[in-house]
Amino acid sequence: MPVTTFAFDASAAYNSDAARSVAGAVNSNVRLAGAPMPLCFERGEGAYLFDIDGNRYIDYALGMGPTILGHAPKPVCDAVANSLSLGQMFAGQHRAELELAQLLQTHIPSAALTRVGMSGSEMVQAALRVSRAFTGKRKFIKFEGQYHGWYDNVLISHAPQVGDGLPVPREPHLESRGQAESVKADVLVLPWNDVGALEAVIAAHGHDIAAIITEPAMCNTGVIAPRAGYLERMRELCTANNIIFVFDEVITGFRLALGGAQQRFGITPDLSTFAKAMAGGFPVAALVGRADLMQMFGTGGVNHSGTYNSNVQSVVAAIATIRELAANGGAALGHVDTIGNQLIDGLRKLGRDTGSNLQVSGYGCAMNTYFGEPDSVVDYQSYRKTDTARLQRFLAALVNDGVRPTSRGTWFVSAAHSGTDIEETLAIARNALMA
Ligand code: PMP
Repeated sequence: MPVTTFAFDASAAYNSDAARSVAGAVNSNVRLAGAPMPLCFERGEGAYLFDIDGNRYIDYALGMGPTILGHAPKPVCDAVANSLSLGQMFAGQHRAELELAQLLQTHIPSAALTRVGMSGSEMVQAALRVSRAFTGKRKFIKFEGQYHGWYDNVLISHAPQVGDGLPVPREPHLESRGQAESVKADVLVLPWNDVGALEAVIAAHGHDIAAIITEPAMCNTGVIAPRAGYLERMRELCTANNIIFVFDEVITGFRLALGGAQQRFGITPDLSTFAKAMAGGFPVAALVGRADLMQMFGTGGVNHSGTYNSNVQSVVAAIATIRELAANGGAALGHVDTIGNQLIDGLRKLGRDTGSNLQVSGYGCAMNTYFGEPDSVVDYQSYRKTDTARLQRFLAALVNDGVRPTSRGTWFVSAAHSGTDIEETLAIARNALMA
């Protein structure tokens, strides 16, 4: 298949115009990254994005995960359009909120009670707050390389120092200038997938640990599966030490399975956060979990608020998305898995055929490409030993020819991707590897 190489003149002109009006020309710092430059888009349709230069991309960034049904999915757009004339928000309840809550209870194994909000970041805050209120303890454990939003107390050690023999717990690394230094006192940062580190830190500090927050599969550094027994042991340790076990399912929810990683792995957390794929691209998030914990938001004096929470359009979009994902015995996610596994197999074969050390980790619905030794990535430190310069050249070559993974080499697959898209992607990837 012939491949064309794109021009980005209109995006470049947009970036210089925007830099005079928008700080850094982007509205989320994550978008500062991306080769050959931050791009400006006209529209999305199904598996494709079209930029203002007229280039078409097979999109594997999917808005950083949310557009699980592809761009502009008709059932979701229709539901939202039909709701517009009802109004947007009432400073009161509407019936669709209950319908959404019941869908969450039906599909998510741990969802005894629910709350919705607008972003993953804020639901993480609610989870940590209620964990402290319930246990009367102060600290929480988070893992090196994981991301739980941009707020002061969690924007820690997402991309910290690299080295051998670093202490456990790690020295907390603040990721932004301007963060309060005081947040370091409340967090214990551990390497992920390391049972020994977990057991040791809980033995020493368990009396003061309110919560462990973890991505059930690590999706913000590579896409790394939990080692056999790791999450099970974490569950046991939490139960034995009165620690609230929080799954951050912002990426894995409605993607690894309809009921999230907790359903796929068969592990029940006490609390879990959802966002992204939950509403097919519309802004919504949820915190769900044990009734005795969640009840504290109702009657236990724990505050969770938000002007835009459960606004009509977000709720309607979430209901339509979840219904689509649940239809025909979950056919949409089945398709994502099948197509995604074709992509994984194809990329691995390309790696072998071209003699490059391209590796693919993760799942059909969310995978990561890196250059390094097979199966060498188990945590943040091992991921950082992979060849990131080569990865960036590979990603830039892909974007140049119309395939767009995220700028960290993570690929999300949607229900709108087809076998033909995968074939086209693999042809472009072959050229990129040869180059
Ligand atoms: N948790 C995880 C695991 C995430 O990946 C993200 C966003 N990438 C967040 C929380 C924050 O969600 P949001 O951007 O909606 O605030």
